[in-house]
This record gives sequence, C-alpha cells and structure tokens, in this order.
Amino acid sequence: MKSDLLNLTEDQRTIRDLAREFAKNEIAPYIAEWDENAYFEPSIVQKMGDLGFLGMLIPEEYEGLGLDTSTYLIALEEIAVVDASTAVLMSVHNSLPTQMILRFGTDEQKNRFLPGMARGEILGAFALSEPDAGSDAAALTTQAVHEGDEWVLNGTKSWVTSGNHAGAIITMARTDTPRDRKGARGIGAFIITPDLPGFHVGKKEDKLGLRASPTVQLTFDNLRVPATNLLGLPHMGFVYAMQSLENGRLGIAAQAVGIARAALEAATAYAAERHQFDRPIREFQAIQFKLADMATRVAASRTLLHAAARAKDRGENVKQATSMAKLFASETAMFATNQAVQIFGGYGYVKDYPVERLFRDAKVTEIYEGTSEIQRIVIAREQYHEHR
Ligand SMILES: Cc1cc2nc3c(=O)[nH]c(=O)nc-3n(C[C@H](O)[C@H](O)[C@H](O)COP(=O)(O)OP(=O)(O)OC[C@H]3O[C@@H](n4cnc5c(N)ncnc54)[C@H](O)[C@@H]3O)c2cc1C
Repeated sequence: MKSDLLNLTEDQRTIRDLAREFAKNEIAPYIAEWDENAYFEPSIVQKMGDLGFLGMLIPEEYEGLGLDTSTYLIALEEIAVVDASTAVLMSVHNSLPTQMILRFGTDEQKNRFLPGMARGEILGAFALSEPDAGSDAAALTTQAVHEGDEWVLNGTKSWVTSGNHAGAIITMARTDTPRDRKGARGIGAFIITPDLPGFHVGKKEDKLGLRASPTVQLTFDNLRVPATNLLGLPHMGFVYAMQSLENGRLGIAAQAVGIARAALEAATAYAAERHQFDRPIREFQAIQFKLADMATRVAASRTLLHAAARAKDRGENVKQATSMAKLFASETAMFATNQAVQIFGGYGYVKDYPVERLFRDAKVTEIYEGTSEIQRIVIAREQYHEHR
C-alpha cells in the first residue's frame, strides 16, 4: 500500500523489519517443503524466542518485551505474509497461554513459566475444544477431580495447536461433579506439562492447510496435576478462556491480514508479468478491479484490527471490536486468496506458485477461535446490549 495508514512509530518499523527479515531468511526458503510434508521445524521456536517474538506481550520483569498489542500484531502480520503456520504458533503462544498465566496466575506460576515462555524454551498451547465440544465449548466433558494436593484429569482434547511440542498447555476441564453440573461456571483451567504421568499425544490431524502447524489430540488418562498448576479459581476457567479468546481473535485477524496481503502482493506481481492478447493482464479492467477490491479489503481489515488493538490497550470493552476484526479479516483472507487464484488462472491451481497454499491456509481463519457464525452471534449480542 502506498501510504502508511497506521502511522507506525520508529520502534514499530524496526520490529516489523526484524520480523520481515526473520520470515524471509528462516521460513520462506523451506515453507513449500514443510507444507508438502506437513512438517513442523522445532528449531523455529528457539529462533523466535531468541528474537523476542514469543514474549512480545510478556512484561520485561518476566524477560518479555512488554510491547503494546499493535506492535505485536504488526510483527505477526509480517510472519503470516510468509507462513500462516508459523503465525498461528506465534498467535496462540502470545495471546492465550502466556496471557492467561499473566492475568490469572500466581506469582509462583508466573515466575515458573513466563521467563521460559518468553525465551522460547517453553512453547505454549491452549486446549479447550473436544471431539463433541466445539462452538459450544462449555459442553466439554474432560473431568478434573481434586485429590489431596493434586487434580486427576480424564478426557480427550482435540485440535490442540502445537500440542505435541508444547511445554505448557492451558487446559480447561470440569471441576463440578457429574451430580451437580454448573455449566460454564463448573470449569477450571490447569497448566499441564507433558512430563506429567497420564499425558498422551494422540492423533495428528492431516489438514487441508496450515500443514506446517501440528494440530493434535491429547488424552489424559488419570493425569495427575499438582494443585499448584490450577490457574485462578477452580470454577472460573471457562470465563478466563473466553476473556483470553477475545484478545486471541486479534492474533488470528492479524494472521488473516497477512495471508490476504500475501495473496494481493503475489497477484499484483503476476498481473504485471503474465501476458495474454499481447499485453500484461493487469491492463484488463477485470483484473484491475479484482486487485482494487483486494487492496481495499486488506487495508480495511488492518485498520479495524489496529483500532481494536488500541482500544484494548486503552482498557476499553473490545468484545465486539475484536469479533468484528476477526470476522472481517478472515473473510478478507478467503476473498483475497480466491481472487488471487483466479488472477493466476491455471497456474494458481498448482503448487508452483504460492497462491494455492494461501488459498488452503486462509480457510481455517474462518473456523478457529470462534467460527464466522459465532463471531456474528457475538457482534449481534453486543449490538443488542448497546441499545438496551
Ligand atoms: C487447524 C485448527 C487448529 C485449532 N486449534 C485449536 C486450539 O489450539 N485449541 C482449541 O481449543 N481449539 C482449536 N481448534 C478448534 C476450533 O476452535 C474449533 O474447530 C471451532 O471452535 C469450531 O468447532 P467445531 O469444529 O467443533 O465446529 P462446530 O461447533 O461443530 O460447528 C459446525 C458448524 O456449525 C456452526 N454452528 C455451531 N453453533 C452454531 C450456532 N449457535 N449458530 C450458528 N451456527 C453454529 C459453526 O459455525 C460451524 O459452521 C482448532 C481447529 C482447527 C481446524
């Protein structure tokens, strides 16, 4: 885009350029192969930790960078332009587990986990979904029973991003009893580490897109968790998870903006190179209009995203704004990647060019951390609250 609508500060430009360089040198050369083989490169985590990308929102006292949300999202967009898989690892780690420990953890938990998470030694994951509890996440059935100074967990978590490489998995499990179900107010949040007895990694999903990001099932078979790993109050885990997802959605929106921008950049370059009827295809108005619509939606998504991020940092209620940003950006990612494949014609449909991968990667942004239908429900509900 020609003008910088975000009016980045000098520090933000520096971090953007650092993220751009990292993605260009450490990810871009390998991503086609990782995507093809559904391969996750573990060394990427330490490299991101060394550069500070895994502690962007962690305060300096816990060895993070203590940055504002917008700056974090600028870095995330740059990574997502090159690889949506690495971007989701970064988004989940920064927005969910680290933030939950920071907001709801004890001093002991913060000291135990946050410095290692900021340094990239402990990768974070978030386990809410279950095979039969997706959009209706409060219907989860993994059970936690308090026994002495431990909690014993039994159940299965599905779709856990980075779950087979994580060192700290924030897991939501029922703390109410089967006889006295309390719905969303009967769920606790636990910090699970993979060394605990009874922790098993199950099926790894074979996905349409985001193939370099491992998504796994986790099973807990009498998993014994020290009581010191319970986060906050035993019945409030679902509330903590929902509050954290509100912010997590900004990360997914930034990922979607990155995917959409990558599609726009690739299609703009291709339209100048590709000749048909003795002229570059960008001279056809049909192509120009597609590029214009893509560019407009990318700019609108990014603007909405950063307006929501700034409102969050001012301490405002951003429930509706974060859902709007996630909804609009993810639909923009689908729109832009679809248009890009069209502009590439047959070459867009094969793996020789990146738009085929972008098209596959875009879809999940409309599904995880709340589907587009769920975002519309949240937006409508907040609208109703406002006018009551
Ligand atoms: C690649 C990937 C990574 C993921 N990573 C994680 C992770 O790290 N941690 C985690 O906990 N989860 C994760 N998820 C799970 C994800 O959050 C869920 O897939 C998502 O919340 C939707 O749940 P579901 O798949 O069970 O779909 P369902 O809830 O079964 O929905 C099916 C369809 O019904 C619609 N629907 C459902 N309820 C309503 C309603 N009330 N009104 C209108 N429409 C409705 C949905 O929008 C959707 O279109 C991941 C998923 C994927 C695909």
